[in-house]
Amino acid sequence: MHVTFSPEELAFQEEVRAFFRDEYPEDIRRKRDKGMELEPKDQVRWQQLLHKKGWAGINWPVEYGGTGWTPVQKYIYATEEANANAPLVIPFGLSMVGPVIYTFGNDEQKRRFLPDILASKVWWCQGYSEPGSGSDLASLKTRADLVGDHFVVNGTKTWTTLGQHADWIFCLVRTNTDVARRQEGISFILIDMKSPGVSIKPIILLDGVHEVNEIHFENVEVPVENLVGEEGKGWTYGKVLLQHERANIAGVARSRYRLRRLRKQVETSVRGAAPLIGDKNFMRRLAAVEVELKALEYTELRTLAAVSSGKAPGPESSILKVKGTEIQQAIDMLSVQAAGYYALPYVPEQYKPDFADQYIGEEAETQSSLRYFNFRKASIYGGSNEIQKNIIAKHVLGL
Ligand SMILES: Cc1cc2nc3c(=O)[nH]c(=O)nc-3n(C[C@H](O)[C@H](O)[C@H](O)COP(=O)(O)OP(=O)(O)OC[C@H]3O[C@@H](n4cnc5c(N)ncnc54)[C@H](O)[C@@H]3O)c2cc1C
Repeated sequence: MHVTFSPEELAFQEEVRAFFRDEYPEDIRRKRDKGMELEPKDQVRWQQLLHKKGWAGINWPVEYGGTGWTPVQKYIYATEEANANAPLVIPFGLSMVGPVIYTFGNDEQKRRFLPDILASKVWWCQGYSEPGSGSDLASLKTRADLVGDHFVVNGTKTWTTLGQHADWIFCLVRTNTDVARRQEGISFILIDMKSPGVSIKPIILLDGVHEVNEIHFENVEVPVENLVGEEGKGWTYGKVLLQHERANIAGVARSRYRLRRLRKQVETSVRGAAPLIGDKNFMRRLAAVEVELKALEYTELRTLAAVSSGKAPGPESSILKVKGTEIQQAIDMLSVQAAGYYALPYVPEQYKPDFADQYIGEEAETQSSLRYFNFRKASIYGGSNEIQKNIIAKHVLGL
């Protein structure tokens, strides 16, 4: 795809490039380039730098501290962010609950929560899924019963990403069982993780990382003012949030960056081995993924245009989610194959003192199989890809 920028957009591109060149902390850059995990404090420091620059609320309206960028500016920013291999912001505050609060919350909630989300002073997590309620989310059982001026919450949320660091959790809970449609009895509430009765249990993923959790609520008292919008309307609000989440998961600019690096890697001889560019089968598969990604870029630009004109991303975000994650997983597979033996999580050479500089090149090859395992999640979270195909069939194709 060829995008022509105006002089103002080119100046903006320069500004973004300069920011990533000059303000992106060297220690975080190094960890990212080596494929190492970031600590929560690295994430927060980076998000606070973005906030200082005024670039934390990329999709937020200007009145709430957002950038007010055009779709082209967002496209430029995402491209430069990916080219710098900068960390993605943790989405739960900035991309998920923030938009729900500024769209459906009352003035007091906006005053109370939005500035801290924008400034990354508070870590949020997402409490939608439950054991037994994932794809069929409307069957969720966590209850919030109104008793005087507070709700009493009982139930279990699961797969809660990075919940072990969270100060707050936003939850879909059942406030009414006496309704015609299950969706009507669901509300959207905000729970302080320090509340008595909240407990958390780690779940270890395939790559051995503690990334998700099970969270239990036992008679947790939640003030009624933490209900967002109207009681029983949580399903509607939750769906808007999911559309934002799905559009974000696609990661087009990141995939473009990873494919470019992969191409560079296969064109050069690694440690004396013949360059993979001579392997027609591998190169055919690489080219096929590049073509798919180019097609997806157009869909992403259409979604960006819709969001910037004030609309929610809409059910089309499901297309982005399915194709974006299929492409990510295809790149993961190609990266593992390109790294060959060095993709093993534990290569014996790693115990040598100069291992990091000698063996982990820019591509962080030894991390590629860990990433491969970790990113099996991409076609599951945010609503599995099978469910997205159902949504596309019904709401986009009208079948
Ligand atoms: C790493 C990770 C992080 C996550 N983080 C969060 C989080 O922070 N917060 C949160 O709330 N949730 C989170 N989730 C949960 C995620 O949204 C659910 O796992 C997902 O919605 C699928 O639900 P399930 O796991 O219960 O699978 P199930 O719903 O039991 O589905 C099992 C399989 O059946 C298929 N299936 C089910 N119904 C249909 C249907 N009608 N048609 C076709 N196929 C169907 C599914 O596609 C899937 O392949 C996370 C999940 C993972 C893996």
